[in-house]
Amino acid sequence: MKNTRLILITLFVSLYCLPAEAQRKEISIPDIPSYLTLKCDFHMHTVFSDGTVWPNIRVLEAWQEGLDAISITDHIEYRPHKKDIQADHNRSYDLAVGAASAAGIILIKGSEITRSNPEGHYNALFLEDSNPLDTPDFFDAIQAAIDQDAFVIWNHPGWSQPNKIPVWYDIQTQLYEKGWIHGMEIVNSSSYYPLAFTWCNEKEIPILACSDVHNLIPAKNLIERGSHRAMTLVFAKEKTKESIREAMFAGRTAAYFGNNIYGKSEFLKPIFCASVAVEALSPLKDTKSIRIQMTNESDLDYELVNQEYPDGFSGPEIIKLPAHHSIIISFKNKEAVKSWAKIKILFAVSNLLLAPEESLIINLPGLNNY
Ligand SMILES: [Zn+2]
Ligand SMILES: [Zn+2]
Repeated sequence: MKNTRLILITLFVSLYCLPAEAQRKEISIPDIPSYLTLKCDFHMHTVFSDGTVWPNIRVLEAWQEGLDAISITDHIEYRPHKKDIQADHNRSYDLAVGAASAAGIILIKGSEITRSNPEGHYNALFLEDSNPLDTPDFFDAIQAAIDQDAFVIWNHPGWSQPNKIPVWYDIQTQLYEKGWIHGMEIVNSSSYYPLAFTWCNEKEIPILACSDVHNLIPAKNLIERGSHRAMTLVFAKEKTKESIREAMFAGRTAAYFGNNIYGKSEFLKPIFCASVAVEALSPLKDTKSIRIQMTNESDLDYELVNQEYPDGFSGPEIIKLPAHHSIIISFKNKEAVKSWAKIKILFAVSNLLLAPEESLIINLPGLNNY
């Protein structure tokens, strides 16, 4: 009986603390020259708004899944558990910050300003104090965030719209013209908004992908490789809160959702180059064919689609390069080629997207010369 009680106590303790044998899945998306590629989720909820978990669980999940930084963004205005949980708007951050520092997770104080359309929902990040955002007028609430030099994100712009297609109202024009939309979710949970991606490209608004998770994240998603929440990649000089902030205001973000990364070629190209090692297996000079080994050390399954072969040349139309695998491909020409390294054969990387209908273009076999 005593033993059973001991086991039960141990089980109870291990549920709420980081167990000694806990495992963290490392996400393999490489750093790029000059910047670390930080894996971040800036949108999630706890029991302090309409979520169903205690704040420290969000930290534990983030640690297990391999994230570097998170923000708990409980709704200011929508708190369905308030009968049972009465606290100010800083409380979820205060309850998670100790667990975050113990786990090495950067915790950014945030809140979600929550209005019906046309205003919509906005996350304010890097707050000092969430309480001043609790004010009836929408513009006053945003102003309270701006007064704290917050990074303001227009969340899920297609939310509650027909077919989830985003609508840009006058309100957004007013905010944008004031310089108060610093970022936009092009992915929220399982919804991707191509139109929002187009707007961000046109208006130079940094893009984000966020989980907006409300319930416990299934253990499978935390543990399995390739199975992950929507997240934002931040290209930061250092792994610090200040560095993340600097990178976000400078627009150095990308959206990671499913097997796709959405963003600018200045970030996606180096990610591809750092993910994939290319090696020639046969002589590069004076041959009619060349064999190339490509090794993908990232978590992404790359798919390369040929754009057009120059006259006389042939090779694969589609190259599938699974995560953590190597493949061998070959190219041929009717004549011997003086230098294969100088031959341009262009491929679109279909899972690295610069715009809704535009993929990153790379050059093979111009080795490492993308
Ligand atoms: Zn929302
Ligand atoms: Zn939310």
